[in-house]
Amino acid sequence: EPGQGIVDRALTVALRDIEANEAELGRLDAVAADGDHGLGMTRGMRAAVSAARRDGDSLSTALLAAGTAFADAAGGASGALYGVLLAETGAGLRGLAAEEVTTGTLAGAVDGAVKAFVELGKAEPGEKTMLDAIEPFRLALREQAEAGADVPQAWQKAAQVAVSAAEATADLLPVKGRAARLARRSEGHPDPGATSFALLVTAVGQALG
Ligand code: ADP
Ligand code: MG
Ligand code: MG
Repeated sequence: EPGQGIVDRALTVALRDIEANEAELGRLDAVAADGDHGLGMTRGMRAAVSAARRDGDSLSTALLAAGTAFADAAGGASGALYGVLLAETGAGLRGLAAEEVTTGTLAGAVDGAVKAFVELGKAEPGEKTMLDAIEPFRLALREQAEAGADVPQAWQKAAQVAVSAAEATADLLPVKGRAARLARRSEGHPDPGATSFALLVTAVGQALG
């Protein structure tokens, strides 16, 4: 029950911010791809919130349910990838109540989730995908854990790193995903998936703090 509480709170804040940015995420995705990223994210987040409320009787099961529901409802490349990130973060926190989660265990769960994400998407750093916000976030969280920061403080620092990293994807050229075909059009515009990831982790940081 307390585990479900924090997941519900975090996903609810994240959904609110994704809804507020739906049009902007769609616009970014339309620059060089099919323009559906905003819609996919709101659909995915709505389903994730409902599933976590319905099926999440622990921190881990709430995140697993949210990930599965997100992937089913959002569709697209990012749907499956976000689904894996959520579900594998849950798997990494199995058996823990929210108050038992340390920055170290959280960083470890995120390490595992990012590993599964890369195995699924096969993206490499610098290819202008979500990974270019996710990997700096993962490293910042690990660094914060080693520095002894508490969970909210560590997450919020890492989220700031993700925001800067997402902005910096404007200078990259896409190699993977739909945008690769019209890569040059995306010059000067940040990657939509990196942008939504930065939004999500920023919202979660607000919910934690
Ligand atoms: P689709 O491309 O299927 O329409 P979305 O528009 O929802 O899906 O998501 C596009 C985002 O997905 C991209 O901006 C990129 O960040 C991410 N993405 C696409 N393919 C990959 C991949 N192989 N690895 C990592 N991220 C990817
Ligand atoms: Mg798209
Ligand atoms: Mg699409």
